[in-house]
Amino acid sequence: MLDLLIKNGRLVEKDRIYEANIGIKDGKFEVITNPERMLEAAETVDARGNYVFPGIIDCHAHINEPGFTWREDFETGTRAAAVGGTTTLIDMPLNNEPPLTDTDTFERKQELASKKAVVDYSFWGGLVNDNLKDLEPLAQKGVAAFKAFVCPMGESVFTSVNMGQVQEALKILKPQQVISGFHCEEYGIIQENVARAKAEGKNSVRDFLNAHSVLSEYIAAKNIIDISRETGGRVHICHVSHPSVAQIVKDAIHEGLNVTAETCPHYLGFTEDLVIEKGAPAKCTPPLRTKESAEKLWDYVLDGTLSCIGSDHSPADEKEKSNEINTIWTAWGGLNAIQFLLPMMFDMAVHKRGYSPTLLNRTLCYNPAKLFKLYGRKGAFGIGFDADVVIVDPDREWEITKESLMTKNKVSAFEGVKGRGCPTHTFVRGKLVAENGMYKDMFGHGEYIYPVREGVE
Ligand SMILES: [Zn+2]
Repeated sequence: MLDLLIKNGRLVEKDRIYEANIGIKDGKFEVITNPERMLEAAETVDARGNYVFPGIIDCHAHINEPGFTWREDFETGTRAAAVGGTTTLIDMPLNNEPPLTDTDTFERKQELASKKAVVDYSFWGGLVNDNLKDLEPLAQKGVAAFKAFVCPMGESVFTSVNMGQVQEALKILKPQQVISGFHCEEYGIIQENVARAKAEGKNSVRDFLNAHSVLSEYIAAKNIIDISRETGGRVHICHVSHPSVAQIVKDAIHEGLNVTAETCPHYLGFTEDLVIEKGAPAKCTPPLRTKESAEKLWDYVLDGTLSCIGSDHSPADEKEKSNEINTIWTAWGGLNAIQFLLPMMFDMAVHKRGYSPTLLNRTLCYNPAKLFKLYGRKGAFGIGFDADVVIVDPDREWEITKESLMTKNKVSAFEGVKGRGCPTHTFVRGKLVAENGMYKDMFGHGEYIYPVREGVE
């Protein structure tokens, strides 16, 4: 007998939608069949009228543990993820103390997460200016990818890398078949722009937006792509905010380079107007751009250039996001975004633009699973895959309020944002972890997901 039957749902795959019953046993997909066939199960959930996704993968999230747990931790971050339909998240190595830049820290962080996480997770490893020797061991240990910054990092203990270090790192990592993701803003341009603005007493939101220019993002991405061409290394451009950056990624893909890229809901559905209106709570880098660029960015989601969409959840507390306490320069740069990745994308893509939910499968399930080598367990309704399931009621209305947020801090640039389409049930390996906007007491259920890289010695 099956443990769980999810019946009558409309299954959303990467290229088709069809009605089916899903049978789950021992946390895996055991059978997927037409809805007429009767299956016996200990428990049954009727998904009639709703869409069913094979779990959402948030490939870019900052959970902040260890070290910065007043912002978020594995309990609060993953419960919010679960409520939003995310069943696997890939956590960033920075905003951690210590940052995840060696295998000892990997083990320590894994232990912390294993006691708290509600959903499954994997880790990005850090690529910083003094850990080239740690890259291969970290890849072998099982990080899903590496993350690096090529811009000034302020007082962060997570250092940025120069282009020489990028080149060396890509050579080291090439045989490991692991991607390196880059926050692209060019060091010199940002440094000069910010220093000049501050010296001239320019402290407005507009000054911040001007300093973090499209040019700086474009040049950094171009440099990274050029080094990928030279070394053959696999690079991933994180959180692309502007179509001109997406276009050089597209050109690189056409050229046959090992280049991929992601974007985030906020670059697709929000503009600099939000930053001007809200100030610090809406500060992130690269910053939100113009309405025209947000509009144009969709073309690159549709054509597969921006193959993944991550939340870039990087929360902070009220003080760090306060306009009264901070200038736009000193305020925390990062958005509270983990819980509304799927609901926002569903509302924007399916309701506002009329795109098929299959686009959401590609950008939130299938592509991230393939790219981060979690496919085989995650990202599809395959028999034997982990039974991660999110049931989405396409008509259910939602609103982002302090009360609806399950994150540790309730400050959000998106407070007051409303939409339609959100999860009713989230299952991780066959276990219900969230239902109708509330998480279940499933802390510790989440497991580390090791990437599978074939052909790596
Ligand atoms: Zn980030």
